Amino acid sequence: MVAARIDGKAAAASVVERVKVEAARLSEASGVRPGLAVILVGEDAASQVYVANKGKMAESCGFRSLTHRLPAETSEADLIALIEKLNADPAIHGILQQLPLPGPLDARRVIAAITPEKDVDGLTVINAGRLASDVLDEVLLPCTPAGAMLLVRQTLGDDLSGKSAVVVGRSQLVGKPMARLLLAANATVTVAHSRTADLAAVCRSADILVAAVGRPQMIRGDWVKDGAVVIDVGINRVPAPEKGEGKTRLVGDVAYEEALEHAGAITPVPGGVGPMTIAMLMANTVIAAYRAAGLPAPT
Ligand code: NDP
Repeated sequence: MVAARIDGKAAAASVVERVKVEAARLSEASGVRPGLAVILVGEDAASQVYVANKGKMAESCGFRSLTHRLPAETSEADLIALIEKLNADPAIHGILQQLPLPGPLDARRVIAAITPEKDVDGLTVINAGRLASDVLDEVLLPCTPAGAMLLVRQTLGDDLSGKSAVVVGRSQLVGKPMARLLLAANATVTVAHSRTADLAAVCRSADILVAAVGRPQMIRGDWVKDGAVVIDVGINRVPAPEKGEGKTRLVGDVAYEEALEHAGAITPVPGGVGPMTIAMLMANTVIAAYRAAGLPAPT
């Protein structure tokens, strides 16, 4: 068996197309233009690229896009004061604090300052609690698991009754919300982590296997049940001497070539879950803007 490749780029592009239509419809209906504010503190090179991409994507969706670039030595009080100003700004519907934060800034306190209705990264305790308590009509979901879930639905449909799902990884950012989304879709969910015994056997039980570990190609092909849907969230940079000295390439948490022999469908890295994350950020911003306008949010 050779697995079908789940095309995250195409899925992300269709999410973005829908967002553009919804943004235009909102402008027509109520004169509201979705507004996204992205805050970057410090000079982290990867973060600068991510922030620039988010700003460009927001503009291409027809949003008002603001980027606040603050020096690394910004105090927590000043950063929180900026967030409070954006919380109160009716033209801004989404606030994204780019992570990681430099030095002494405490990400938990900073994220907690974002009003949950504008928390388009879905990282506040309130949004995590809404997801955990099935308050799905008010939640803003964390973008990566929401995007991964969309790929699962696209492959298997909305109802995962009777399917067993294994999520490897239990972070607040990916593993736990992913498990909750799979459960909400009626899958029977196991969450595995670094203390799980016989991880290979646990993975082999999965009809849906989600890898969110951060260890390059840790999940081998023979850990994958025949016909399983494999969603590889991992993004790991590894040396690629075949491309030249000092060159690198991206790989997932799954040994892709091996897994192709067993899986029914699998996401590649890059080009799988990665592009979905930014698309879901745009989707969350438009949802937040509809809710702020008192209109039913697009689903
Ligand atoms: P974390 O480091 O926060 O969590 C990793 C999880 O993997 C932990 O729960 C940890 O277990 C578990 N783990 C670590 N080693 C093992 C092991 N040997 N066996 C079993 N479980 C293990 O990572 P994130 O959840 O933030 O990210 C996971 C991956 O997803 C990373 O590669 C990251 O780059 C990628 N990512 C991709 C995004 C995208 O846009 N596609 C966005 C966000 C993340 P324990 O809890 O016991 O320590």
